[in-house]
Amino acid sequence: MRRVLVTGGAGFIGSQYVRDLTTGAYPDTAQARVTVLDKLTYAGNFANLEPVQDRITFVQGDVCDTALLAEVLPGHDVVVNFAAESHVDRSIADSAEFVRTNVQGVQALMQACLDAGVARVVQVSTDEVYGSIDEGSWAEDTPLAPNSPYAAAKAGGDLIALAYARTHGLPVCLTRCGNNYGPYQFPEKLIPLFVTELLNGRRVPLYGDGGNVRDWIHVTDHCRGIQTVVDRGVPGEVYHIAGTAELSNMELTGRLLDALGAGWDRVERVPDRKGHDRRYSLTDAKLRALGYRPEVAFADGLAETIDWYRTHRDWWEPLKQQADRSPVP
Ligand code: NAD
Repeated sequence: MRRVLVTGGAGFIGSQYVRDLTTGAYPDTAQARVTVLDKLTYAGNFANLEPVQDRITFVQGDVCDTALLAEVLPGHDVVVNFAAESHVDRSIADSAEFVRTNVQGVQALMQACLDAGVARVVQVSTDEVYGSIDEGSWAEDTPLAPNSPYAAAKAGGDLIALAYARTHGLPVCLTRCGNNYGPYQFPEKLIPLFVTELLNGRRVPLYGDGGNVRDWIHVTDHCRGIQTVVDRGVPGEVYHIAGTAELSNMELTGRLLDALGAGWDRVERVPDRKGHDRRYSLTDAKLRALGYRPEVAFADGLAETIDWYRTHRDWWEPLKQQADRSPVP
């Protein structure tokens, strides 16, 4: 039976991975013994794991804490690292925690995996490490050119992980994915922010000219891609998990307004984000060659996601109150 350690497993994507892993979404994992290590920052929420809390061991702790890692990690066969500071706007306001968790945390974890002889490590990363692309798509060997402090810190973590593969032979793979959407996403990110604001009868802030393009993927497809790499990825390799719906923020806003029966008068145009990347786009032939296919059509996934926020006010209302008390400067 596999023992899996999921770091950052109480956040949006990590908790989806843990819920899927423990409930038979992937072949042969329903019986896996799963440990979640998470610091429970503002973005981490044990409620995200409540549906499967009886099936996991939860450790509250910091991925930078080398003594804790040395205690928790031995005996695990697989480690998947989701732990990160993940919100670009927060990294523009203050990037110190981003460098600590996204770079130093990866170094601490890779060293601990090496020391414990972990058989399979996956470092979860982002398309944002490549910068911005006006046309075409990035392949896995594209040079890194991150722009935001968030993306630069993720790129630093990626390079450290690959250095452990090349220097020490650590069996680590990297995944890089586009913008995720789905249930349990902290209501500071575009889709849950807009949906919850519209549900509350408020206006939503659209950056700049609304022309920034993102390639959206449902969180369960992202997690299925990660599991494909856990099962069949070649150590030391990078795999893209591409989105299924390329949309400008303006187009996405239009779809959200339509779905919630609201008009453009509910949109407030706000000054653009500093250094706002224009477009991200990934190729994913390498992952598809391992048998991966996305399964959630964007229209269906978006409708289900909106419905989830509509019916889970008890989950997001306290988080919005907390965010209102300490807004990103
Ligand atoms: P999230 O902010 O929802 O969750 C991050 C989790 O990490 C939280 O549970 C938090 O408590 C935990 N954490 C933060 N610092 C920690 C530390 N020092 N020690 C232990 N735990 C810590 O983020 P997410 O959207 O779920 O993203 C997960 C991963 O996927 C990140 O590495 C992110 O870079 C990557 N990613 C996200 C997206 C996206 O669209 N959200 C896209 C591509 C890649």
